[in-house]
Amino acid sequence: KPVIAIVGRPNVGKSTIFNRIVGERVSIVEDIPGVTRDRIYSSAEWLTHDFNIIDTGGIEISDAPFMEQIRQQAEIAIDEADVIIFMTNGREGVTMADEQVAKMLYRTKKPVVLAVNKVDNPDMRNMIYDFYALGFGEPFPISGSHGLGLGDLLDECAKHFPQEDENPYGDDVIKFSLIGRPNVGKSSLVNAFLGQERVIVSEVAGTTRDAIDSPYEYDGQEYVIIDTAGMRKKGKVYETTEKYSVLRALRAIERSDVVLVVLNADEGIQEQDKKIAGYAHEAGKAVIIVVNKWDAVEKDEKTMNFYTEQIREHFLFLDYAPIIFVSAKTKKRVHQILPIIQRVSENHAMRVQSSILNEVIEDSVARNPAPTDKGRRLRIYYATQVAIQPPTFVVFVNEPELMHFSYERFLENRIRETFDFEGTPIRLITRARA
Ligand code: GDP
Repeated sequence: KPVIAIVGRPNVGKSTIFNRIVGERVSIVEDIPGVTRDRIYSSAEWLTHDFNIIDTGGIEISDAPFMEQIRQQAEIAIDEADVIIFMTNGREGVTMADEQVAKMLYRTKKPVVLAVNKVDNPDMRNMIYDFYALGFGEPFPISGSHGLGLGDLLDECAKHFPQEDENPYGDDVIKFSLIGRPNVGKSSLVNAFLGQERVIVSEVAGTTRDAIDSPYEYDGQEYVIIDTAGMRKKGKVYETTEKYSVLRALRAIERSDVVLVVLNADEGIQEQDKKIAGYAHEAGKAVIIVVNKWDAVEKDEKTMNFYTEQIREHFLFLDYAPIIFVSAKTKKRVHQILPIIQRVSENHAMRVQSSILNEVIEDSVARNPAPTDKGRRLRIYYATQVAIQPPTFVVFVNEPELMHFSYERFLENRIRETFDFEGTPIRLITRARA
């Protein structure tokens, strides 16, 4: 999906516009940390266009002075976006800070669309002319508070969307990414996979995306490690900020089949670990929990069990994910990761036979009667798999309101006992039979 980033100095109304474009998005899954997507990054639609949008204003670079913050945000936009919306405030005219942002943006070849916000009515339109001076062509007047002009602005952005291949690698290639807090050892693991000291990826001019994937072959299976450059390219100040690492993780997750959630054995499980893992689960990707730096842990024969229990307790929603203990440093068990990736990726794409599925459901209902409410009982007629990646089932019933979360969970567990869905989330959707 193409990515739009909004940049501009503070108080020009970036987040208002962001929220307008994104609209109300209510998450369907509960009780999972991090489910309500961080408000700086979201998918959105305009007419026939699907895209992602970033509000760089929401990425605070701690301790940096005002101008430096803006500069870093512009840099993030340049690194991450296909199209940049440069936002200004029509009521205040062109300010020095706007000129600074413009200077930053002159350095990119990426398309920049200039928006002049707070133009709340047509009488105010003549105030946009000053903004030609910024050197980005025609300014687009918009009003965040009234929702005006957004259509024209997004049309203009869409003109610059790159023509991209939805699946440039083909269906047989397994795409996976490593996500986790900074310093858990993601880059080291990638280097361990690739059997070389450094991840070397050739820079492709003008695109971030083509340059950041590392193709890899092992045991006759092709893999692509997604977003390896994101791990390689260190040293920019903003890369250590939490919001930025979340943004990177979300983008990598989106393009992956399998997500390796990397934890550091040397440190306790932290809130942010859960949040990051929550994104992978919510996105419906196959998930493997990789505990790295296992060499740094003092251990006896009970240690691995103890860690496993801790992880299961903290990541209840990932009860399907296999856990592997590795060391990027000594390479211990690193070679076992790829076969697990292959296995869970197959499960993620598995289709099951309807007849067996319905036997499981019937048998489940016989063992544990469906819930009732005010004298009415849920009746399950039949179930069918409607999608893969993740496997998704529709259960046809008399009255969907009678389906309880706990009963759904019970059915899911029964399905898991019958079929091997290790490593993949599965989804149940309850529908009234037509
Ligand atoms: P990233 O930010 O997640 O990509 O983390 P890096 O790969 O840059 O690793 C962060 C630090 O942890 C570096 O100093 C690595 O040398 C160290 N490190 C990575 N993997 C291991 C490991 O398996 N064992 C030990 N002891 N240190 C590791």
